[in-house]
Amino acid sequence: MPPAIRLLLTATLGALVVLASTSCQSSKLTYLEPPTQFESPEELFYSLNLEQDFIRRGTAGRWKFRPMQPRYITLHSTQNYAHGADAHRHALALKRGALKGHNSLGYMTWHFTVDDYHTVQHLPTSERGEHADFEGPGNRYSIGIEMCEHAGHDRAKTVDRSARLAAALMHAYDIPLRNVVPHHHWPRAYYKQPHKNCPHFLLDNGKPGATWRDYRKRVKAYYTQIKDKKLAAPVFPLSPGRVTRIDRDNHGPRG
Ligand SMILES: [Zn+2]
Repeated sequence: MPPAIRLLLTATLGALVVLASTSCQSSKLTYLEPPTQFESPEELFYSLNLEQDFIRRGTAGRWKFRPMQPRYITLHSTQNYAHGADAHRHALALKRGALKGHNSLGYMTWHFTVDDYHTVQHLPTSERGEHADFEGPGNRYSIGIEMCEHAGHDRAKTVDRSARLAAALMHAYDIPLRNVVPHHHWPRAYYKQPHKNCPHFLLDNGKPGATWRDYRKRVKAYYTQIKDKKLAAPVFPLSPGRVTRIDRDNHGPRG
């Protein structure tokens, strides 16, 4: 084969390999609408449709008080496909102590559950949850967000709401974008597969890839809208507004 043709063939094959690998890497988030534009941080916060429905202090997964200063935001998906397994249903399960965990607490807990209509908060962000990596930094320093995926729900709305919530939490606690991570980020000690494929629909082949980068771009797009704007009240959740149930007794650190 003449060298010129061989070169041409090699170049073509190389281009095909590059094309194939980029197409494997394309984001799965094409079902999302473009990010909404908000006039003010308040408008973004209200769009979360946030309710506080805390696990009662001293009971279930809050039987022990464990303070936390949030430095990361960890995204999960529930993998609970049961009909009606929305954010309220998870709040109920957490309050009843129905979600046992093989960890030092004995229960699974996390801070927020997001579905296609609501955001429900289960734990103050000043308290540690059990959702990521046992005694690791994922539990010790991160706010856990679960995304619902029950039958019939609208994933596009859930994913977008979780991105708005992540941006709101970045704003409230000065958390950098690089610290917004999937559960996969935190290795779980003693597991055969330490890095969990979670949230599975934001990962590619069980790992952060194009889809996760695309999701982070969305978080950034929301954060950029609000980052230089001050809110009237700096503590999350910031304003009563659409927070329908505020349990002040259970809010914040002990005392
Ligand atoms: Zn997870």
